[in-house]
Amino acid sequence: MPRDRRVNEYNDSAFQVHAIYNFAVRYPERRRFSRSARNLIITEIKERRLTAVPDEHWMEEALRAAQRALESGEVPVGAVVVCDGKIVGRGSNRNLTDCDPTAHAEIVALRQAGVARGNHRLEDCELFVTIEPCAMCAGAMIHARLKRLVYGADDPKAGAVGSVLEVLNHPRLNHQMEVRGGVLAGRCAEMLQSFFRTRR
Ligand SMILES: [Zn+2]
Repeated sequence: MPRDRRVNEYNDSAFQVHAIYNFAVRYPERRRFSRSARNLIITEIKERRLTAVPDEHWMEEALRAAQRALESGEVPVGAVVVCDGKIVGRGSNRNLTDCDPTAHAEIVALRQAGVARGNHRLEDCELFVTIEPCAMCAGAMIHARLKRLVYGADDPKAGAVGSVLEVLNHPRLNHQMEVRGGVLAGRCAEMLQSFFRTRR
C-alpha cells in the first residue's frame, strides 16, 4: 500500500510536467500562465491518461548541458537532476574551467540540486546523465540517496554501473536505486566520440 501510493504520487507529478510541457509547446508565446489554466490542462491530461514525461525529454536537457561543456572545450558530458517534474540541478563537465578533478557534470548537478532542495539527501530525485557515471559520481549518488539514475551511453573505460566496476547497487551497500541505461545512447556516444576524434 505505501509503495503503491508513492508510485501514484510520482506519476501525478510526472503528469503535471507532461501537461505543462505540452501547454508550453502549444502556446510558446505564453511564458507564464495562471494557476487555473495550469489546473485545467492537468485535469485534461489526466483524463486522457497520457503517459508520464518520457526519460528522453530529460536526456535532451542533459545533452544540452553536454553541448555547453563542448563549447567551453570540456569533455562533453551533461547532467540534470529532476525532482517533482522540475529540473533542480544542471551540470556540465567543468574540470578544466575550475581546475577541479571532481567537477564532473553529475557532481556539479548534484551540488546545485542539494542547494536548491536545501538538503544533501535527494531521495525524491532522479539524475539524467549522458554517459555511465564513474566511481566518484556513483559514490556521490549513493551519498545523496538518489532515487533513480538514467544514463545514455555505456562507458567501457570508467563506467561504475557495471561496465568496469559495480559501485551502484553493489550487494554490500544498503542504498539501492533504480537504474536505466541506453537512453538516447547513440547521440550521447556520438558527442563524445566526435570530441575525442578532433583532439587526436
Ligand atoms: Zn564522474
